[in-house]
Amino acid sequence: MAILRKSKLPWFPAIDPDACRADLRCMSFCPQEVFVWNRETGRPTVAHPQRCLPGCQICVDVCQTGALTLPERDEFQSAMERLRQPVDKRHLYIAYRRPETPSAAAPNRPGARGKETSN
Ligand code: SF4
Repeated sequence: MAILRKSKLPWFPAIDPDACRADLRCMSFCPQEVFVWNRETGRPTVAHPQRCLPGCQICVDVCQTGALTLPERDEFQSAMERLRQPVDKRHLYIAYRRPETPSAAAPNRPGARGKETSN
């Protein structure tokens, strides 16, 4: 089984500041609110790259100056294959194994192993 972490996928736009006209089209059309307005530069910035949807390219399509770029398909594809490598099962075992001895705090709970008490 492979686990893909969205935060590790290299899919988010880059802005060429020289080409950006700050017309806000990317901010208006992005369904994920990846961009925020930067007062200091007077342009949008990619503030939340982890929100970007892999495969989406709405912002690139609506930008009239070509200021936005996304990763090349080959680059994205090879990153996906790298991330799809099987997870080392020893780490899963360590993360999810149950305690081998019953909890000392609740010795009489139903189903607990250990010394039974009778009244
Ligand atoms: S690719 Fe789509 S989700 Fe990502 S920033 Fe552009 S419009 Fe938003």
